[in-house]
Parts: sequence; C-alpha cells; structure tokens
Amino acid sequence: MRFQRMLIYFPLAMQLSMLPWLFLYTVRCSAFNITSDGSTVDHQSFDYVIVGGGTAGLTIANRLTENPRITVLVIEVGINAQNDSRVTDPGNFSIVDTSDLEWGYTTVNQTVGGNSLGLTVGKVLGGSSTINGMQWTRGTASQYDALEKLGNPGWNFASMQRYMRKAEAFHTPNQAQINLGITFSSDAHGKSGRVITGFPNPYPCPLCKLWDTLVEATVAVIPGLRNGGNIDQCSGNPNGVARCSYSIIPGASNGPNAGVNIRSSAAQSFLYSLPPNDRPNLYILTENLATKIIWKPKPHTELPTPRAIAFQDVRSPQSSFLALVNREVIVSSGSIGSPKFLELSGIGNRRLLESLNIAVISDLPSIGINLQDQAGISSAYTSAFQLNTSVLHSPSTGAAAFVTLPQVLGVVGAQNYVSRLTQTITRRATEIVKIGAGANIEGVSRMLRAQAAQFGEENAPVLEIVFAGQTPTQLFGTAAWILLPQYRGSVHIVSSDPLIPPAINPNYLLNSEDLSLLVNTSTLSRHIFNIPSVKQLYTSEVLPGVSVQTQPEFESYVHDNYFAVLHPIGTVSMLPHALGGAVDANLRVYGVKGVRVADASILPLQISAHLSSTVYGIAEKAADLIQHNQP
Ligand SMILES: Cc1cc2nc3c(=O)[nH]c(=O)nc-3n(C[C@H](O)[C@H](O)[C@H](O)COP(=O)(O)OP(=O)(O)OC[C@H]3O[C@@H](n4cnc5c(N)ncnc54)[C@H](O)[C@@H]3O)c2cc1C
Repeated sequence: MRFQRMLIYFPLAMQLSMLPWLFLYTVRCSAFNITSDGSTVDHQSFDYVIVGGGTAGLTIANRLTENPRITVLVIEVGINAQNDSRVTDPGNFSIVDTSDLEWGYTTVNQTVGGNSLGLTVGKVLGGSSTINGMQWTRGTASQYDALEKLGNPGWNFASMQRYMRKAEAFHTPNQAQINLGITFSSDAHGKSGRVITGFPNPYPCPLCKLWDTLVEATVAVIPGLRNGGNIDQCSGNPNGVARCSYSIIPGASNGPNAGVNIRSSAAQSFLYSLPPNDRPNLYILTENLATKIIWKPKPHTELPTPRAIAFQDVRSPQSSFLALVNREVIVSSGSIGSPKFLELSGIGNRRLLESLNIAVISDLPSIGINLQDQAGISSAYTSAFQLNTSVLHSPSTGAAAFVTLPQVLGVVGAQNYVSRLTQTITRRATEIVKIGAGANIEGVSRMLRAQAAQFGEENAPVLEIVFAGQTPTQLFGTAAWILLPQYRGSVHIVSSDPLIPPAINPNYLLNSEDLSLLVNTSTLSRHIFNIPSVKQLYTSEVLPGVSVQTQPEFESYVHDNYFAVLHPIGTVSMLPHALGGAVDANLRVYGVKGVRVADASILPLQISAHLSSTVYGIAEKAADLIQHNQP
C-alpha cells in the first residue's frame, strides 16, 4: 500500500525537494561485490543467477551464499540507493519523489472508471522493500493452509510462519512504547533473522493520541472488533484494529541518533548490514537488465535447460553481456517482472510468443495470468491541530483495522454476500478463462471456492483500513481497500524488446461484489470520521468531500477515484499443472529444467495482508528447497 492517492490530490507534497542520489556508480568492497559494470561478470560462470535484486532475490542470495563454496550473481536493473535518505528515512514515504526508483508502470485503461492507473513497483536494489510503506503484516492461518489444499504439499501456515519468522529479527517494544498503545504477541515473531522489524522509537506522540482516538472510533463503529491485549497483525489472526508494526530499525533511545529510525529493506538486511569481509562468493550487479535465458542446445530426451542469462546495461542499451549458469536460474523479478522475463525467454503462451517471433521453449499459457491486485479508496481531513514534526523519521501510517465480512455487512448481509459468491463460482470462472485471465475452469473454480470459504466460514478479514497523517499537507485520513478481489487479470509482453513495458490489466473491481464492498468501505470510513471525538480533530473533509452523501454518490466516488493498492500477485502461480499452475510446489517452472521462480508472483490467491513478510517467507522457503532438492 501507499498513501499515494492523497499525493495526487495534494501536489504541494510533490513539490518537496528531491534529495540527491548518493551512490550511482560502481562500489567495490572486499566482501560481497556491488558493481554496475556488467563487463566484470561477462562470460563468468555462477552456480546460481538470480534475476532481480528485490525482496525475494536478496533473501535467497543471502541464504545460498552462507555456503562459501556456492557462487551467486544477482542481476538488478535498479540503482544501489544505499545512503539515499529518500528511502532510508521512513518519514519520507509517499512524501518525496522516488519515481527514479520505480518502474513507472501504468495499467491499461480499466473497464471500471475508464482510466489507466499507476502501478508502482520498486526498481532499485532491494526492490519494492526499498520503497514500500513498511507495514509488517501476515495473512490468516487458513490462507496459507489454502496453498496446500490447492495442491502444493508443504505450503501451509505452520511452514510459512516458520519461514516468515526465520527472516525476521523483531525488536520487542520497550515499556514506553507499550504505554503509548502498542500491542504485540511475541510468539508471532522471529528474533534471529536479518530483517529488523518493530515500532518507531521513540514512538511518535502526540500523534499516538490521534491513533488512539481513531482506534476507539473504529471500535465504536464496528462493535466487537478486537483491539488491545496482545493483538498482532503477524499472528495468523489479523482481525481487529491495532497499531502498525513495520520493517524498521527502531531509533536509538538517546545519543546523537536518538529517534532516527531507518528502513529495514532487503538491501539493508542482506547486504549493507553484512559484516565486513563476508560473502566474497556473492556478486551484485546493478543497473543491468536481464533480458532472457539462453538455453543449452536441446537433446531430444531432456527438458530445456539454461546455459546463461543475457543482460544489458540500461545506461547503454546497445551493450550485451552473458552470465553463465552452472546450476539454476532463479527468477525473482516480482509479479510484473517475472512473467515478462519468462515470456521473453520463450516460456509462455505459444500463440503470444509466436506472434512476437519468440522461439517457444515451453508452451505454458499460465504465465502472466491470474493477476490479482487490490483496489482502494481514500478519505482525507484537514487537521485541526498541528500534525507536527514528531512524524519525522517515522512512517506516516499509525494504525490499521482488518475487518471481516460480517463486521462490515452484518451477519445476514454477509451470508447473502457469501451465497452470491458461492452460487456464481462456475459462471465467474468461465468468464475469467474466457477473457484470458485464467488457464482452465476447474483451476479457477477451485481458487474461487477457496476464496469464498475465506469470506464465509473461515471469516478472514476482507477489508483493511489504514489510518495515516502527513505533516506537509496537514491532512490525516484513511487508505482503505478490499483484500480479496474476486476478479482476475493478466500481464503480458507486447514486444520482444525487453525495454518495452508489458500490458498490465488487473481488471480492478470488475466483479460487482468487489465494487459494492469497496463502496461499503468508503461509507465505513465516513462513519468513523463522524464520531464526535474524531470530528473535533479536523476542520474540514477533503475526501470524499461533503458533496458525497447518498449511496449513489459514494458509488460514483469509488468508481471514479479508486486506486491500485500495489500488491500484485498470482502471475506465475504455484499450482498443479493441470489446474493452470506455472510452477510446482518446489517452485520449478513446468516444462523446463533448472529454472525456479520465487517472489510475490507465485502466490495463487490474495491474502488479508501486505505482502512483504510473506514474500520474505516464500524466499526463505525457496532457499531451503533449492539447497535440498536439486533440479
Ligand atoms: C509503493 C509500495 C508500497 C508497499 N507497501 C507495503 C507495505 O507497507 N507493507 C508490505 O508488506 N508490502 C508493501 N508493498 C508490497 C511489497 O513491498 C511487495 O509485494 C514485495 O516487496 C514484492 O517482492 P518481490 O520480491 O516479489 O518483488 P520486488 O521486491 O519488487 O523485486 C523485484 C526486483 O526485480 C527487479 N527486476 C525486475 N525485472 C528485472 C530484470 N529483467 N532484470 C533485472 N532486474 C529486474 C526489479 O527492479 C526489482 O528490484 C508495497 C509495494 C509498493 C510498490
């Protein structure tokens, strides 16, 4: 999520000065190597080549290179932004311009609303973890169990929670933080990983009073919503309202760096914080775009196997290099980048590849389909008090509510909603396949059935409401979204030129139940801000605005103003081949040998969470699978 929609309405924030880039070119050190000079690895061979130095890619590189005999090359197209305070300072999220660290993707015009939406994805070392909102949350236990039930042995909550904890080093809040409203459950968190998580220190107050008021108002509007106690959005039961925890290195309590919190990105966790002289077997190449897999000549009896990765320097696109692969290629280019890279490598729908004159290595129509992102809507209010500099070095978000269907619609409304979902599974699956967003009706039906169960008897949160405030604009409000979208979309290349962006079509809100739920979300936010204790904290409503009062007015506000939540998944889904999967439960791509995918794209279904903690877990598990079962 990004509180970005507020920025669109408040260009003042966009005018804040950009801070200079500090690290642009080659950095060499005696430990792991970070270079942007592709010629230094040209025609060198590596045991593993990882395509994408993002959240998953760097996690896997870290684990594999714990073995000093293994060599790993990570190819990342973005820059190394190691000391760039635009991203290291959590207070800068959504306030400063980081467009040079993003892909700048936009969707095709959406049927609902008619517009193309910005779909921000990280293009920098550390990937999206370097630019994200840092909220640290996980889905419900049953959502991870659903992965196993869909045909992926070993992918369940017990296993995923173990791996998510493995990546993590949780800073247990101190008493002062707890006194200011933080709740947590120690059991939910890992202590000995490298991704530092926790809460800003010192905890930003008096802003915390605003979060207290909003939390109380949310509970008043949604009676029975859990809060207080040891509620923790990483426990497997995120339902409730609580203060946000983050992928953050909490500031020191005193001394010159007191209160200077730092983003805990994959790059910070797995590269910058490594001890000196560690990992001479790890090579990080930035500012180079991996363009495709070069395959070994194929004997009749064997599956196609990678020989090398072709890549080019993005500063001189005529350049062309090769990195030779001893063991495997691991594609960790994210939900947009991974299907693109696979299609450029000849893995994808035969008709599409042939139309672009790309030699077909594996006819795998499931690449690039099943795209699911969430759609959200904002509210914003002009603060009646000074939203002061206490937010400096702290994220702009404060608390988040994860709300179930009966909590939004009431018990009867929820039952009716679920029965509409259940009764339409086959029709909806047929339609999704017909528009090219699903591989086959049986596979899509099973996923829709699993999702309907999450809405129904599993009672998973279906909405998230995040409370946030911004000092430059003196606004606070909500970014709220549906967590489990019913529709599916696609992402496909439109050219064999790797520099041309793919066509991205999430089909936001095309399902009428999704749309109506988002409208309910918007009205729910209004109810919260109508509670008298909240009302006295603002002077005017900016969004949706006082002109929006009736149901049709809320419908048209949502229809015209929804935003992309930036949690795309599903485009290289882990499922049995017969159900339309692209990778198996060992993350191996069907129809070839020696190629795995590990990132957000392998999740076949959305979860009631932000994605980064889950992606770290996927990557930790991937590293184990790679180490223990060779292709
Ligand atoms: C603005 C924003 C806010 C978010 N907020 C939150 C939040 O608050 N909490 C949360 O948990 N999640 C959040 N997310 C989501 C989360 O950060 C991502 O889902 C997750 O980090 C994705 O990890 P990944 O490994 O799949 O991809 P990424 O981390 O995006 O990594 C993919 C990397 O591959 C590189 N790449 C792609 N193609 C190539 C190629 N051909 N050659 C070389 N390199 C390539 C990319 O440049 C990128 O660095 C947010 C995301 C965004 C964009």
